[in-house]
Amino acid sequence: MERKTDDLILGVDIGGTSTKIGLVQNGLILRSDRIPTMGHADEHAFADAVAQCIRQITTGNDPSAIGIGAPNANHFTQLIEQAPNLPWKNDVPLAQMIAERTGVPTTLGNDANAAALGEWQYGAGKGFDDLLVVTLGTGVGGGVIVNGKLVLGSAGNAGEIGHTTIVMDGRDCTCGRKGCLEAYVSIRGMRRTYDELDGNKDVLKQEGAQCIADAALAGDTEAKQTFHHTVRWLSVALANAVAITGPGRIVICGGIARSGSLLLDPLKEWFRKDLLNIYHDRVDLVLSGLGEDEAGVLGAAALTFMNNELKRSV
Ligand SMILES: [Zn+2]
Repeated sequence: MERKTDDLILGVDIGGTSTKIGLVQNGLILRSDRIPTMGHADEHAFADAVAQCIRQITTGNDPSAIGIGAPNANHFTQLIEQAPNLPWKNDVPLAQMIAERTGVPTTLGNDANAAALGEWQYGAGKGFDDLLVVTLGTGVGGGVIVNGKLVLGSAGNAGEIGHTTIVMDGRDCTCGRKGCLEAYVSIRGMRRTYDELDGNKDVLKQEGAQCIADAALAGDTEAKQTFHHTVRWLSVALANAVAITGPGRIVICGGIARSGSLLLDPLKEWFRKDLLNIYHDRVDLVLSGLGEDEAGVLGAAALTFMNNELKRSV
């Protein structure tokens, strides 16, 4: 079946706390709702709740496909595989379970791939056949599009830039290795950097990385240094990734990207210095233009383009 972007598509974005569900057409979320991810008796009860929410949102409309984005989702097996931050410890065939309940073809992919496809189809990556999308948040994710196709790799999760080594024998990473980019430029990594610089303890009492951004803007020395170090690690990692994947654009998204020019201005400056010469006029660096709430749902919806030859929407 040929897919078009003006089809009605349902995006289901599964997060550790809540699951957002939205009806998407032409990159716009027409209607949306959310349900808690936790607190269901088992995965079957969760699938029932998702299906019920889908029916409420789509009343009077027939979506042509459903895309589900989730941590640890494997595109090849269509299973959510033992995701540490989700309530089910076994492998869950959620795409099949939702398809059975709704009668709509359903596809599943990991949230990093979803973010990449969302930026490509609907966001700042539109029109770029070679694209790198990096998500800076609780973790660091990445998705790579080369020659107009999402690169899946042998295990379905190519583009894991967060788990490339940036410091030899460095900080412990959640993956069990040492020195991964994620241990430095994620929200947790930034907070640790600030802590190691012996910054003001009161700043870290607030959640997230925004408190460090606010402190930096207010002139806090350790917060400014934290941003400087974060930018240096990230710039080197991005320049390395460019040498391998050759993107025409890099889109930075996720919570830390909302630091805006505090992150982007020095990052652009260092990135230019770190970059291999031949890419100087070939790749640019932008922040995602998608809102925090819409990015996950649009990305999940964009996963539905994976079963066909991926095609640009421009
Ligand atoms: Zn790691």
